[in-house]
Amino acid sequence: MLALSFEHALKNQELQVYYQPQACTDTGEIVGVEALVRWQHPYWGNVPPSDFIPIAEKLNWIWTIDKWVMKTACQQMADWHAAGYPLKLSINWSARNFQNPDVVDRVAEILKQMQLDPVYLEIELTETILLEDFQKALATMRGLCRLGVRVALDDFGTGYSSFFNLKQFPFNSLKIDRSFMNNLYPNSKNAIIVKSIIEMGHLLHLDVVGEGVETEEQLEFLHQHHCDAWQGYLLSAPITAAYFMEVFLRGDRKFFSLREKSLDAS
Ligand code: C2E
Ligand code: CA
Ligand code: CA
Repeated sequence: MLALSFEHALKNQELQVYYQPQACTDTGEIVGVEALVRWQHPYWGNVPPSDFIPIAEKLNWIWTIDKWVMKTACQQMADWHAAGYPLKLSINWSARNFQNPDVVDRVAEILKQMQLDPVYLEIELTETILLEDFQKALATMRGLCRLGVRVALDDFGTGYSSFFNLKQFPFNSLKIDRSFMNNLYPNSKNAIIVKSIIEMGHLLHLDVVGEGVETEEQLEFLHQHHCDAWQGYLLSAPITAAYFMEVFLRGDRKFFSLREKSLDAS
């Protein structure tokens, strides 16, 4: 029943890709977008990914969905690059995809087809990756790295054996889970954890991204502690490509620029 729904969803264009902008913490420039899938079902309305992704994983539809998201978002990115906006694209992958032996070839094919430089593509993974077949996952990740695609560890701090994952897998960046963004007052547990993750990430030569930033205070904290980039409702919720283009690329919307802010203040 649900497998049929996925088939219909893809055929009838019920799936859509939304984009959440990511900004450089230091300059405020938009450096990339995270692609997030949306499902507008004709009867059920808007079905959140947290509801349907686990089912798609169980029914073995996840690679079909993730591949469709990757293709759609890479096409969009190629258009933005051609228009003069060299943004990075982050996509979310289920750990399941790492068990599929030909995913690296499919990624290479799509990048070639879209004439997109692999350094602009980043694949985000959650830590459950290790719960599946470790050797296969490692081989897939190494294949992606050889292609030049970047890999990010998503939701850092919430899963299993985070440090083991960081040690074993060739990640390029890590994203601090949004559950740590609350109560970032001096010496609070979250403040100490976030500060430590940023420091550790930098010592491991990883880019560190803060997620779920909703207030100026949270952004200020990330800036003070040299977090590389951030995303969250303070900048924007995930939005359609057309809206992103209008507001962030063509529009004269002023981004949060802490550098400008401190110049203004001086
Ligand atoms: P995620 O990768 O951690 O994505 C971030 C989620 O937090 C998104 O929820 C986003 O809308 C939400 N978010 C962003 N900024 C804020 C904020 O400031 N505050 C709060 N409270 N929330 C914020 P979304 O789009 O519902 O996605 C949920 C999860 O579903 C994602 O978590 C990701 O794990 C998964 N997902 C989404 N799209 C895909 C996809 O194409 N493939 C796969 N495999 N998983 C996906
Ligand atoms: Ca993500
Ligand atoms: Ca996340």
